[in-house]
Amino acid sequence: MYNPESLKAEEFISHEEILSTLEYAEANKNNIALIDEILDKAKLRQGLSHREASVLLACEPADKNAEICALAEQIKKDFYGNRIVLFAPLYLSNYCVNGCVYCPYHAKNKHIARKKMTQEEVRREVIVHLGRSRLRGGLPGKHRGDGQPDEDRCDPAERFHGRQDRAAQ
Ligand code: SF4
Repeated sequence: MYNPESLKAEEFISHEEILSTLEYAEANKNNIALIDEILDKAKLRQGLSHREASVLLACEPADKNAEICALAEQIKKDFYGNRIVLFAPLYLSNYCVNGCVYCPYHAKNKHIARKKMTQEEVRREVIVHLGRSRLRGGLPGKHRGDGQPDEDRCDPAERFHGRQDRAAQ
């Protein structure tokens, strides 16, 4: 049974829901009224459902695709500015309660060693991550999406360094 609120992978990843969503997108790819409604919702920057996103992805009319691209570009600029942002995930452990069959970390896999990093290991990894590249360490945080600076952006790497710096004083 599909349940997007569930914490179980078998419930929030549903093959039937994926097929049904693809059918919905196919049936509505030229539905101008629905596409306009979804675009209006997208302008609020509060997110879309997977079904709504599927309709925009399948959309056929060229003028609507031009609108989708223009709005997507504007939203991207509002959130990130005129730059490319890459996120490098830092795995703190390989324990997992879920069961995604494509992933070796799934809970039923008894053939791998499980590891949870210590605070010292996390500290070393963060330093290596930041030192290896010009990437900024961080997790998706409090992006306002209203074009204002993100000075309250959640940046665990910076907070981590801040704590370390204070501890060393
Ligand atoms: S770690 Fe692997 S098994 Fe766990 S939720 Fe992520 S993809 Fe699924």
